[in-house]
Amino acid sequence: MNPQKRRAIFERLRAANPHPRSELDHRTPFELLVAVVLSAQATDKGVNKATAKLFPVANTPAAIAALGVDGLIPYVQSIGLFRNKAKNIVALSELLLRDHGGEVPADRDALEKLPGVGRKTANVVLNVAFGQPTIAVDTHIFRVSNRTGLAPGRTPEEVEQKLLRFVPEEFRLHAHHWLILHGRYVCLARAPRCADCAIRDLCDYRDKAGPARAAKHSTARGVKPPR
Ligand code: SF4
Repeated sequence: MNPQKRRAIFERLRAANPHPRSELDHRTPFELLVAVVLSAQATDKGVNKATAKLFPVANTPAAIAALGVDGLIPYVQSIGLFRNKAKNIVALSELLLRDHGGEVPADRDALEKLPGVGRKTANVVLNVAFGQPTIAVDTHIFRVSNRTGLAPGRTPEEVEQKLLRFVPEEFRLHAHHWLILHGRYVCLARAPRCADCAIRDLCDYRDKAGPARAAKHSTARGVKPPR
């Protein structure tokens, strides 16, 4: 894909949603960190439901450490892999208290040393809580980057490196959210909604919906039919 197309894709995604936000409810970096750890293989909606009850009771490392694993489990047991996640959240709270004065560090290496925090979680925290232009490649971003031809790669790391190289600087801070939301609501895994897609004419995916149907929808939405 050429740089003009890439720029045009992000211009359209930005025009549709100039200030994208995380769909995980949080008010502090620590709340975000807990929510992201809980969100692995779970929906944001399910995580928000759990944290809506947890955070009024415990939303600091000290409060979570005081709850302990057994005290935390009742709040998160509706979420997949909850036992492991509860263990990690209590352990990372204790580490934050011991090594970081109870604060979430704005530093990749320090974040990745926390239990249950990998590169993707660290990227989300750095981006959303600290405004760093990182790109956390989850399943949605991986799919959209490959399908569209925006940043094809065989592994999340490869896609991440290409996105960091190819996404023009002015779009890098929000690229992560634009691509996740596009994958979550439009470029769906099993049945991408190509006919309703704002970047259809810029996308390299070969199996886009038929031209007649697409043209009808595209015209209705003011999007050019494919070339
Ligand atoms: S045209 Fe289809 S495959 Fe391409 S980005 Fe849009 S929804 Fe995804």
